[in-house]
Amino acid sequence: MAKYQRQLGDIRIHRIVELTEAELAPRTIFPETGPEDWDRHQAWMPPRAMDPSSGNLIVVFQAFLLQTSHHNILVDACVGDNKPREDNPNWHLQQRGSFLPLLAQAGVTPEAVNYVMCTHMHSDHVGWNTELRDGRWVPTFPNAEYIFSRKELAAWEALHQKTPQPHMTDSVFPILEAGQARLVDNDFAIDDEVWFESTPGHTPDHVSVRMASRGARGTVTGDLIHSPVQCLEPSWLMFADFEPDRAKVTRRTFLDAHCDTDILVCATHFPEPSFGHIVRRDDAFWFAYEE
Ligand SMILES: [Zn+2]
Repeated sequence: MAKYQRQLGDIRIHRIVELTEAELAPRTIFPETGPEDWDRHQAWMPPRAMDPSSGNLIVVFQAFLLQTSHHNILVDACVGDNKPREDNPNWHLQQRGSFLPLLAQAGVTPEAVNYVMCTHMHSDHVGWNTELRDGRWVPTFPNAEYIFSRKELAAWEALHQKTPQPHMTDSVFPILEAGQARLVDNDFAIDDEVWFESTPGHTPDHVSVRMASRGARGTVTGDLIHSPVQCLEPSWLMFADFEPDRAKVTRRTFLDAHCDTDILVCATHFPEPSFGHIVRRDDAFWFAYEE
């Protein structure tokens, strides 16, 4: 189970892995790169971070369950089941049925989740906010407060006005309608153990989730970084970065702040085991997996 859990002071961290994909070619995810940029990473990326047969990047889709002495906190909510996602055949109307059983394995029922903290409103982070019941999208976690950045929500609502966003319709708006959303600023803290840290650029008000307990520290990255290759290449543009220049500054700041510290990094989309530390490597960084 070491692959899926860590203890951080009094906080138990569980990875709830919905799926692991090797669907996208490196140059699709990082559109400004050329073949020569990848040559220098061929020696270390496969098989963990790159599929040896297809050459595609390995990307994990997961949530982190934080069990503190007071609360069960779910950070992000993956893709979800039964969601219409015409733009992604892999996710479209998927019925994996695995997410809630994995949560149960961690000892937590949907009713026992106290908070759902949302790092940003991309469709692979809000899916399990809701589930389909009797033809309606209802909150999956009936007793939870869903913590949304007010500014992030406003940006997606504006976008939805212009171009309808299916994931807002089925995974975010039902939470607002159920009265379970708490709209907050990007420095919101649940208590002195778990809080938001502003890490903008990937989306308008992207946040990471910081943790501290009994002197131990950790961060759930969200999508400020997607692959360990970005530790070595922090300036690479990722195709879904909303404000690329800002995202690059955020990534560099994050890497500097975590480098050669004891801060446990829970890297949302990184390959197994996704836990590790940032260390210095020449004039850039390296992700040292905590096995
Ligand atoms: Zn994502």
